[in-house]
Amino acid sequence: MDSFYVSGGDGVKRYAVLGAGFAGVAVAYHLLEMAKRRVQVEVYDMCGIAAGASGASAGLLHPYSVKGKVMWRGREAMASAMHLVKAAKAAASRLTGDDAQVICWRHGLVRVAQTRKQVSGFRQIKPPTGGRNNGHPLAISLQEAQRLIPGLTAGDWMREDEAVEDTACLWIPDGAVLHPRRYLAALWEACQELGRRTGSRATLVVEKVSSLEELESARGPFDAVIVAAGATVDSLQELKGMLPLNLCQGCTMALESTGLPDAPLYPEAAPSLLGPTYMAAHGRDRLVIGATSTYGWTTEAALGEIGKGLVPVRECEHDVSGLGAAAGRLWPLAREWGVAGVRSGVRALPPRTEDGAVPLVGKVEGCGPGRSWWVVAGLGARGILYHAWLSQLVAQAVHLGSESNIPAALLRWKR
Ligand SMILES: Cc1cc2nc3c(=O)[nH]c(=O)nc-3n(C[C@H](O)[C@H](O)[C@H](O)COP(=O)(O)OP(=O)(O)OC[C@H]3O[C@@H](n4cnc5c(N)ncnc54)[C@H](O)[C@@H]3O)c2cc1C
Repeated sequence: MDSFYVSGGDGVKRYAVLGAGFAGVAVAYHLLEMAKRRVQVEVYDMCGIAAGASGASAGLLHPYSVKGKVMWRGREAMASAMHLVKAAKAAASRLTGDDAQVICWRHGLVRVAQTRKQVSGFRQIKPPTGGRNNGHPLAISLQEAQRLIPGLTAGDWMREDEAVEDTACLWIPDGAVLHPRRYLAALWEACQELGRRTGSRATLVVEKVSSLEELESARGPFDAVIVAAGATVDSLQELKGMLPLNLCQGCTMALESTGLPDAPLYPEAAPSLLGPTYMAAHGRDRLVIGATSTYGWTTEAALGEIGKGLVPVRECEHDVSGLGAAAGRLWPLAREWGVAGVRSGVRALPPRTEDGAVPLVGKVEGCGPGRSWWVVAGLGARGILYHAWLSQLVAQAVHLGSESNIPAALLRWKR
């Protein structure tokens, strides 16, 4: 290890972040951004950046529940996520010199109601007062949704009387779609840049970690270790059984029209679609369809899914037959597209509380004197919404040396 960066030398703080998914890379960014003095941030990941659930995700980003209500702390979370998207975009454009590699599409999202109850629920959503919409969701008719997404169908589930309702769909103008792997690569580049600018340093170490104690013995003591290991947090000896998480494996399927000259493109600047089967448009020639859900996964099984990347359907061990068919029912022109492959990831679902499925953040108790170990976990099915806000909170807490800034709901798991 470079002697300049040894903890305590020249007052340089040294942090380890475990996991290079949405949570881990965002923690690294905030640790660097908030540091008043030079810091060394070492990110450890068994497979590199975006190898876990983050890499498999579809990229949907918005702060609303299925009913169209703002989720717990959804607005703050959305604002934090957009702050990081901006930082990542700036780093990516400096890297490539242009915007050719799109990281985020801000074309909005549409949800088609699945039930009569949902149609009535959308009716309760009041339009904002004062004229300006400011991204507020709006209930719209199926016909209006079809104007936004030419070719959209209601699907078999919508009866005729529901399809004609003026609240059959929900339009979320401020909803966005990220390209998860490009975004994380760019955010990591933003970390490097922050380091260069401030005399700090961010390094990625591709290595599996089994014990935090062993990590500190092998690499020297850290001022803080932040664990952002997603669904396999239990693979760390000291954290085994500590967090109340349920593991749920899922797949997304990538469809593309590239190389198919007769296949139609996705309508220009059209929103993506939310729903039990969703369709995230990554440009006009790629659609990410999601997602399957298989509950009751173990840590060992989840470890086996990490780093698989894009797999051809014939080599995929999971049943994804429903995804392509459902996409064809939503937007029938997708039937003319080809399947690029399937990605699998495991979600770490937190318990349901009166605030909804709230992630888990906080300091690990009883880790011994002089140690400062933290976790950010349970990002569930909405990790893109929450990752930036949670990582900002945990980085602040590390700098403060206290959990005083962390909302009580995120600390419930410790009771
Ligand atoms: C199919 C699917 C689709 C999804 N779509 C969306 C979506 O559209 N929008 C949304 O908001 N959310 C979505 N999600 C949820 C979202 O992907 C997760 O909430 C989020 O990725 C969790 O991020 P994370 O950083 O906590 O975990 P991960 O992304 O899993 O990152 C954990 C990292 O830790 C590393 N690691 C783990 N254990 C160790 C160890 N012992 N040693 C070293 N490294 C280790 C792994 O290699 C991994 O890179 C989806 C999830 C799935 C599975």
